[in-house]
Amino acid sequence: MQSILQCMDCQQQYPINQLLYTCENCGGLLDVIHDWSGMMLTHELFDNRLGSLEFPYNSGVWRFKELVYPTVDNSMIVSKPEGNTNLYPLPKLADWAGVEKLYLKHEGENPTGSFKDRGMTSGVTQAQVLGMERVACASTGNTSAALASYAALADLDGIIFLQNRAIALGKLAQGIAYGATCIRIDADFDRNLELVREVSKRLNIYVLNSVNPFRLEGQKSIMFEALQQLKWQVPDWIVCPGGNLGNSAAFGKALKELYDLGLIDKIPRLAVIQAKGASPLYQAFTREFEDFEPMKAETIATAIKIGNPVNYKKVVRAIEWTNGFVEMVTDQEIMDAKALIDNSGIGCEPASAATLAGTRKLAAKGIIKPHETVVGILTGHVLKDPDATIGYHSGTLEDISPKHPNLLLESRDDIEEIVALLTNKSDTVKANL
Ligand SMILES: *Cc1c(COP(=O)(O)O)cnc(C)c1O
Ligand SMILES: [Zn+2]
Repeated sequence: MQSILQCMDCQQQYPINQLLYTCENCGGLLDVIHDWSGMMLTHELFDNRLGSLEFPYNSGVWRFKELVYPTVDNSMIVSKPEGNTNLYPLPKLADWAGVEKLYLKHEGENPTGSFKDRGMTSGVTQAQVLGMERVACASTGNTSAALASYAALADLDGIIFLQNRAIALGKLAQGIAYGATCIRIDADFDRNLELVREVSKRLNIYVLNSVNPFRLEGQKSIMFEALQQLKWQVPDWIVCPGGNLGNSAAFGKALKELYDLGLIDKIPRLAVIQAKGASPLYQAFTREFEDFEPMKAETIATAIKIGNPVNYKKVVRAIEWTNGFVEMVTDQEIMDAKALIDNSGIGCEPASAATLAGTRKLAAKGIIKPHETVVGILTGHVLKDPDATIGYHSGTLEDISPKHPNLLLESRDDIEEIVALLTNKSDTVKANL
């Protein structure tokens, strides 16, 4: 049977090839629902494809095709391939965070440097199924980089709406380089998302923000892949940053589906970490989700600088399904955690470091127990936001005093001066031990 679209609120169903983002009946968010009856879905099916050279199963998304979009014809799939990112065991960072076992899954290792590629391969594939010629998104940066790249790959016109301030250089450069039509608009992300939805309706353009349920189907594969890398041994916690909440929503759906299919024997708890200046989900969580208040967002972690997350209701559901938790961290905590992740040789962009900062906070509060195993998601690559990195280490970021700075040393063209610098430096390092 074909997959279908189903409203999460009123359960109204729609055919999979109808161009629709929200329910026509009640405005609710849509889920893509698959019919798995009669399918043999086993660990072996997915494990046997590991290391495959065959399209599309060489992708870390389409290796799980049956769980992502079982009925789509392979000829429609637009894949780079993406996924297949590493899961790093990091004992030193685990110590720092106060947990026994910490793995970080580095989604910055995707082709355009962020986890958005996973949703973009499924979203652009659906654009092909629908025969759309133009695709668009509003973006804090990474979605636009992914959209621009995948649109170019599929020979579609990519259009991106960028917020006026606060787009990291590595992201803006990608959108322009991949040839998308880039419009910088004097509005924040939340307003840009409204604009792109209106304009796209007028001009028959396909919207690829995470309100598009096909995006979330691809994002689910982060959970599938992480669990497969752990040989299907379920960790206690999954920790990830939350902005527009597409990922955390997708993680909840993925975990519930794996459990319902018998592919995992328990559901890990999901912890969503927000930046303090962009924490409407956290605020609602402290009120037991009784009401929701959008806010004007401000944080150095631009990828999660979102005040009115479109997937709010889906994440509330994900928190219920997983007995999850929501925490918030300050920009200072985010940047100090980032410095440690960077210094471990792994590296990430600011938003990703909310994962580690949040893990430490939850461990300190006793929510995450010391003996528990945590899988944290690093969402974007260290090269995405060089300004934030250099600003931190040189102490020029407003309201942030770096706890772990790596100072850039300077010298004249003079051997004695360089030797003196290095001698002093190793003395200082020893003194600090
Ligand atoms: C998009 C993004 C996030 C936030 O993901 P949501 O699905 O919007 O909650 C976090 N980190 C990075 C690097 C991102 O690009
Ligand atoms: Zn509905």
